[in-house]
Parts: sequence; C-alpha cells; structure tokens
Amino acid sequence: TYVISASCIDVKDRACVDECPVDCIYEGARMLYIQPDECVDCGACEPVCPVEAIFFEDDVPEETARFTRLNAEFFDDL
Ligand code: SF4
Repeated sequence: TYVISASCIDVKDRACVDECPVDCIYEGARMLYIQPDECVDCGACEPVCPVEAIFFEDDVPEETARFTRLNAEFFDDL
C-alpha cells in the first residue's frame, strides 16, 4: 500500500484524490489517508503530491514510519 505522511498535515491539496483510480484516499480532520485494503499500489498518487507526502510503504522514511500505522488506524476509527 501507499502511505500519506506528515507533510500532508494542514495542506490537504487533494491532487492525489483526483488521480486515485479506486477512490481509496479519504479526508481526515488535518490530513488525507490511504485505506490500505483498497489501495491497488498503482502509484498514480505519489508524483502529483505537491508536498511529496506519499510513499510506497517500503520506502517510507524512518522519521515518518509511524504514518504507515496511522493511515491504517484512521479507518479502524471510522
Ligand atoms: Fe490510489 Fe494508486 Fe495511490 Fe493506491 S497507489 S492510493 S490506488 S492512486
């Protein structure tokens, strides 16, 4: 799955939402989140993010690794 990380906070540009073919990017209070069970790993969202917040899960920088869990947990709370 792809993961949205810290630089999305209070930005929420939404360019990724328009690119996602399966509509699996959802809006939270302060950032957007990718639903990991729905993401098909197409990678379309990653290059369009103006703040480079999106990473493939294996490429998430260590300092933002917790966002992999945060993206998943956002949907547990819905
Ligand atoms: Fe959507 Fe593709 Fe990005 Fe996954 S990788 S969130 S399916 S655009």
